[in-house]
Amino acid sequence: MNIHEYQAKELFQKYNVPTPGGSVAGTPEEALAAAQALAGKTIVVKAQIHAGGRGKGVFKNGFKGGVHLADSAEKAADLAKSMLGEVLVTHQTGEAGRLVNKVLIAEGVDIKKEYYLAVLVDRETKAPVIIASTEGGVDIEHVAEHHPEKIIHVGVHPLAGLQPYQIRTLASQLGFKGDQAKQFGVLLSNVYKLFLGADCSQVEINPLVETPEGRILALDAKFNFDDNALYRHPDIVAMRDTTEEDPREVAASEFNLNYIGLDGNIACLVNGAGLAMATMDIIQHFGGTPANFLDVGGGASKDQVIAAFKIILGDANVKGILVNIFGGIMDCDIIAQGIVAAAREVGLSLPLVVRLEGNNVAAGLATLNASGLKITSATTMAEGARKIVAEVKAAA
Ligand code: ADP
Ligand code: MG
Repeated sequence: MNIHEYQAKELFQKYNVPTPGGSVAGTPEEALAAAQALAGKTIVVKAQIHAGGRGKGVFKNGFKGGVHLADSAEKAADLAKSMLGEVLVTHQTGEAGRLVNKVLIAEGVDIKKEYYLAVLVDRETKAPVIIASTEGGVDIEHVAEHHPEKIIHVGVHPLAGLQPYQIRTLASQLGFKGDQAKQFGVLLSNVYKLFLGADCSQVEINPLVETPEGRILALDAKFNFDDNALYRHPDIVAMRDTTEEDPREVAASEFNLNYIGLDGNIACLVNGAGLAMATMDIIQHFGGTPANFLDVGGGASKDQVIAAFKIILGDANVKGILVNIFGGIMDCDIIAQGIVAAAREVGLSLPLVVRLEGNNVAAGLATLNASGLKITSATTMAEGARKIVAEVKAAA
């Protein structure tokens, strides 16, 4: 799960990570009030979307930039008006862009230097890693590609935690001395506490800045949370903004289905993540392209199967469906009943191939046959994949 920058600021405040003040606005009037509250300070108006690269982004209406300075509250309200309700396209959003529903009215700070700082989980070491660079503010992927030597990695032992010597070494590698090194140390240890405390999989601050007065502040924030730990954080779950997510994935999560939309035209409905991966591979192997990854889990109910069918059919690209179920824990007949009920409910007209195997498979196949629906059955994965690819091609 992701959150917006203005929500990340609340977490920063909770964990004493210094960040410029500000508040969120959903209308130009709210933006005016928020900007007036920052009287006497420079104001920054920032589009709130779940994607970075806003500063250099362009709105579909031609308005340039999702981050702007304003020298008066009225100017800030004008800028908010230009952004709210408009679609912002950045290098991270793809062509479709993202609709801006809120803007952050933040206190503008003078910047002496921009740095990059992130804490994430390193898949190689299976432990947290801190990534830092003196080349902040810009595209970190660009720095990693062209100047890999400018990216500092500090692995953290998950049990021992972040050590004071690691913080001191990193501060000096970034060129911080004296009071700035001290500020950086406090900031980093608080960011690390936040990373652990909120069960994040990523906290990215780009830029972390030093002001001409020597203050160190987090100016931007991008968070990712471990979805499996969200049950421990109702306050963070409350920050979820489903308008920023793929509606198909939102619907799937309501039924505890693991769904990821893809670009192909053959939908798959499978129990178990490994089998789902293998099913996508075998569809490709026989010349088709999968429309999704969908794992209904080890013990799916009839309602979940019906929900899964509806989500699959909500995708206009889908031209055929392959159901591949191995009934271990699951009863094949329950799946079969779910398929029949779903096919009837949605008036299914697309080719449907079902491969069932395992627990109570005979009853499952009998249920499919007795339904009178046009369902092709298969006994092996290969046969199922071959059949659905052929049926989709024939229909095209
Ligand atoms: P994004 O990464 O989505 O482009 P940022 O929050 O990093 O958005 O903003 C882009 C740039 O705008 C920053 O690198 C910084 O130079 C400037 N900026 C952002 N917030 C402020 C602020 N509060 N005061 C001054 N400049 C800011
Ligand atoms: Mg940024």
